[in-house]
Amino acid sequence: MVGSRTSSTAKTSSADIMSEKIRDSFIFYRSFYQSAKKLPKEDKAELFDAICAYALDGELIELSVVPEAIFTVIKPQLDGVYKNIEKGEAHWNWKGGITDENYRIRQSSEMKEWRYLVFKRDEFICQTPNCFEKKGLHAHHVKEFAKYPELRFEVSNGLTLCKSCHNKIHSKRGKNVN
Ligand SMILES: [Zn+2]
Ligand SMILES: [Zn+2]
Repeated sequence: MVGSRTSSTAKTSSADIMSEKIRDSFIFYRSFYQSAKKLPKEDKAELFDAICAYALDGELIELSVVPEAIFTVIKPQLDGVYKNIEKGEAHWNWKGGITDENYRIRQSSEMKEWRYLVFKRDEFICQTPNCFEKKGLHAHHVKEFAKYPELRFEVSNGLTLCKSCHNKIHSKRGKNVN
């Protein structure tokens, strides 16, 4: 990362609290990228440098006027990240890699929509022969969620199962696939 890191460590009180907390990773929100997108290269580099320095090292660096203004908007989100960690909350972004992505997808409105369409097609009844359960339904991915990302939202790849039938399938298949 390039960028002018002239005078470092003009620390505020919140940075003082964090100064000992050096991190290996942090959440880089799409909104950060969007706010920086239209900046001239130098400002952008400054801003990214400042975000990394603050988020990873708890360090505030001096910025030019425009990056400073944007950084001021972004900073509370970076602070929020620290607060979650300090409270020991397992925010999904912090669980690492692919699992996070999967979790986000599972909670997404697309997935809710997919689930609903699968249930609707199956008339809200477990599809195991002779089961007929209507409560506690799950939408199962016939071809695994993890292995077939292109089929995740494919209604034809979904199957309505009750909880116990779903569990049976997964105890055969292994726990971490859906
Ligand atoms: Zn399943
Ligand atoms: Zn069932």
